[in-house]
Amino acid sequence: MNLVQELRSILSDEQVTSNQTALEQHSKDESSHSPHLPDVVVFPKDTQDVSKVLKFADEHQIPVVPFGVGSGLEGAVIPYSGGISMDFQLMNQIVEIRPYDFLVRVQPGVTRQQLNKELKKHGLFFSVDPGADATLGGMAATNASGTTSVRYGVMRDQVRDLEVVLAGGKVIRTGGMSAKSSSGYHLNGLFVGSEGTLGVFTELTLRVYGIPEVTMAGRATFPSIKHAVDAAVDILSAGIPVARVELVDARSIQQVNKHSGTDYQELPTLFLEFHGNEAGLKQDIEFAEQLIQEQACQEFAFEMDSLRRAQLWEARHNLAYAYIHDNPGKKMIITDVSVPLSSLTEAVEHARAIIDGSGLDGAVVGHIGDGNFHTLVIVDEQLPDEVEKAEQVNAGIVNHALERGGTCTGEHGVGVGKRKYQYREHGEAIEVMRQLKFALDPNGILNPGKVLPE
Ligand SMILES: Cc1cc2nc3c(=O)[nH]c(=O)nc-3n(C[C@H](O)[C@H](O)[C@H](O)COP(=O)(O)OP(=O)(O)OC[C@H]3O[C@@H](n4cnc5c(N)ncnc54)[C@H](O)[C@@H]3O)c2cc1C
Repeated sequence: MNLVQELRSILSDEQVTSNQTALEQHSKDESSHSPHLPDVVVFPKDTQDVSKVLKFADEHQIPVVPFGVGSGLEGAVIPYSGGISMDFQLMNQIVEIRPYDFLVRVQPGVTRQQLNKELKKHGLFFSVDPGADATLGGMAATNASGTTSVRYGVMRDQVRDLEVVLAGGKVIRTGGMSAKSSSGYHLNGLFVGSEGTLGVFTELTLRVYGIPEVTMAGRATFPSIKHAVDAAVDILSAGIPVARVELVDARSIQQVNKHSGTDYQELPTLFLEFHGNEAGLKQDIEFAEQLIQEQACQEFAFEMDSLRRAQLWEARHNLAYAYIHDNPGKKMIITDVSVPLSSLTEAVEHARAIIDGSGLDGAVVGHIGDGNFHTLVIVDEQLPDEVEKAEQVNAGIVNHALERGGTCTGEHGVGVGKRKYQYREHGEAIEVMRQLKFALDPNGILNPGKVLPE
């Protein structure tokens, strides 16, 4: 069968390509997992297009892998079985903004920055902010989160409703517009985080928030990781509604200074942000400062000015690139775990010790208000010994998190990189997941080889 011709008879000529550059663009994500070309890339324009392609693919048992912008970090979009890569760049319309309901309806190819630009005109914002300008379809499919999730929640908390095309082409909705519901099984929860393995999202209804009257951001430095993590936990225990609390370790602050031209003290640091009104914020911040000082804080600086505040968060978001710029030709290998708060200090210290013990250069940073942290190590891929060491670092960190009741991925997803930990984390529940997968995708065409272990 000539796949390109068959698909062109279903869509239009310009919506289907097997051009080498396009195939290469859809063969990888931002991870270090090895690339693999799809056979063809399609660009649906609407739900009907998606439905027709999935019906055809299911009949002929051709793999289909949905593609956002490929910013994922665990190889989830890499089409290891070939087939069709389905790119949503032509489905990038904001369908409806409903300010009174604090809801928006969007097509899956809308990116979070595109959405926020539009929402700003209505005094609203969308809260989830992974470092990359990812698509909302990709973010829902990985249950993404980010710096503000400690206050507003993760992707799963924002999704009210999804329009999903199932493997055979049938179109369903998984939720509704109501803020609460006890009706039926929680299909939103099932599809969010399914990484393109259960269905393809063609529309999302998402929760949005009013832009806070005042935003204040600051930095606090500490003599040790333990002091920094304890200060963060103290702020949360006190019920202070912190909007962001990020840990950046001392080695990474050096890198931030070098890359962003800042002169931050090179010690374990918390980047903090508070949202609210002027009177309430004053009290919150005074209380937070008191708790921070009790943890031997070395320096506490507030950035009131919006430019300085933007610089602070830019420095945090650009951290990975700060390492990459300084190591041309090398790769970063990232892992992401989440643990209960009571194990956080120990887990972060353990991660730092493992990296130092390996002799590799690397960072420990985290959305620590959620018990979630990442490590990145820099490796020369030409040196198998370095790659092997990085894999051992990742395995050590993940196993340590699992032993403490944590998870092998707080937000980046399973993709191919975390499949090997799925049995250990979920045990017999993996069989239930397999049954769900079989019920929804009996021919196994949707993103095969991802999430579930062999
Ligand atoms: C510098 C950097 C920082 C990052 N920081 C964070 C962070 O803080 N938090 C975080 O959560 N992630 C982070 N990430 C990872 C990444 O941005 C997220 O995983 C993001 O959600 C991926 O979105 P995407 O549009 O790039 O999706 P892709 O990578 O293209 O796809 C991801 C998955 O979603 C599926 N998918 C895509 N579109 C659809 C659809 N319409 N229907 C069904 N499935 C679909 C794909 O098949 C794949 O399984 C970071 C990445 C980078 C490069």
